Amino acid sequence: MNTTATMLAHMAPCRDTTPEQLAQLIDMHLGELREKKPNWTLAASTVAGRGVFATRDIVAGELIFRERALVVGPTARKGQLSTCVCCHRLLPTQGFLCKQRCTLPVCAACSGSVTHRAECEHFRRWQPKDADAEEEQVNPLSLRILTAVRVFHLGKEQRHLVDAMQANAERGFRQEIIKAAQCFRNFPTTDKPFMDQLFRIVGVLNTNAFEAPCRTDGRETLLRGLFPLTAIMNHECTPNASHYFDNGRLAIVRAARDIPKGGEITTTYTKILWGNLTRGIFLKMTKHFMCDCTRCNDNTENGTYLSALFCREQGCRGLVIPVQTRTLQPDWRCLSCENVFPHSKMARYQDFALNTINNRINSCSVPDMIHFINDLCPRFCPPSNYVLIEAKLNVIWRMTRFDTDQYTTEEVAHKDRYREDILAILHKLGAGECTLKKLITEEIQ
Ligand SMILES: [Zn+2]
Ligand SMILES: [Zn+2]
Ligand SMILES: [Zn+2]
Ligand SMILES: [Zn+2]
Repeated sequence: MNTTATMLAHMAPCRDTTPEQLAQLIDMHLGELREKKPNWTLAASTVAGRGVFATRDIVAGELIFRERALVVGPTARKGQLSTCVCCHRLLPTQGFLCKQRCTLPVCAACSGSVTHRAECEHFRRWQPKDADAEEEQVNPLSLRILTAVRVFHLGKEQRHLVDAMQANAERGFRQEIIKAAQCFRNFPTTDKPFMDQLFRIVGVLNTNAFEAPCRTDGRETLLRGLFPLTAIMNHECTPNASHYFDNGRLAIVRAARDIPKGGEITTTYTKILWGNLTRGIFLKMTKHFMCDCTRCNDNTENGTYLSALFCREQGCRGLVIPVQTRTLQPDWRCLSCENVFPHSKMARYQDFALNTINNRINSCSVPDMIHFINDLCPRFCPPSNYVLIEAKLNVIWRMTRFDTDQYTTEEVAHKDRYREDILAILHKLGAGECTLKKLITEEIQ
């Protein structure tokens, strides 16, 4: 993923790869998925670094490319630890660690697979401290390093491609490695060339990897996948292309809007429905850049008012929105009484709304959630605020994907209304045939 020019100074150097070499490596990686005459090409981008560009006019909905993951691994998130590292099935509560004592969670069928054998030996050579533990437990720190270990087992060209990818040089990445190293007795911490390579690989993964949903046995797991071409696409808050994943291992990129010949093909690194400030903070924290797209420069957010909160002035129920764009600490002004409030005050209010709504999302049944959205939220949160929109989205997901419960006609009608609300917002944003639209209209699963 490329960021702004100011960020390039912070990038760890990638091994000298000319644009032609990078294009060749990408072509090899795409293999038979590469179209004979692709409608895209790689080129230098004005947004930053390099990007993906249209070689001819592309119409909304058209396929741009499909790409298999170069490497996948577990996200090592809480709640997903006891999932097989190879097939991602949920494992039994006992006897789920590898019998070879590599300390990785793996199912019986995958434990003898070629993929696991290589990483199993690798882990055992490092001597995991947990190998002698009485209790079976997955260590998230060593589980997280597995994707990097898998990179070491890739073929030569695939390794070159990883080397050619950009990486932010974050201090936090070194911490991640140090913590993982402490889980082993024999981690090669004094082997400088190895440690340098590992640092670079962890940087590439943290900068570029996607969390791709994968469904196994009716359950969704998030995989950590490196999709190099998808990652080269630059960010735009309302992008002209949409990407989604098929079973965690295949990325599919389609045009969300018409893209003219020569135009840069963009995707988003954030959630499309987040407000300006939330996206700004996320991009700054995780991708280390400030976005300067048209949406970020419009404090009405294309008239969606996704960040709006209620006025804090007594008796006024006006909408308060950030005054300045391109700052993470704006003043806020009421559209009715024109009073101005400091960012700190409004940020506390936004956090309160976020926490109140998230607590309900995590604890309420669907009918309670509907009651909360319809009757309680309007007291403290404007209907346009993105947190309330996310709550509606949560109801849609639960009613269409995860719960198999029966719902009343009235509940279904509420869900359908929420969907209309969200489609209207996406329309205002000019999001076109974006992934979220396809998901809520169940065009893709
Ligand atoms: Zn398995
Ligand atoms: Zn093993
Ligand atoms: Zn933006
Ligand atoms: Zn006011």
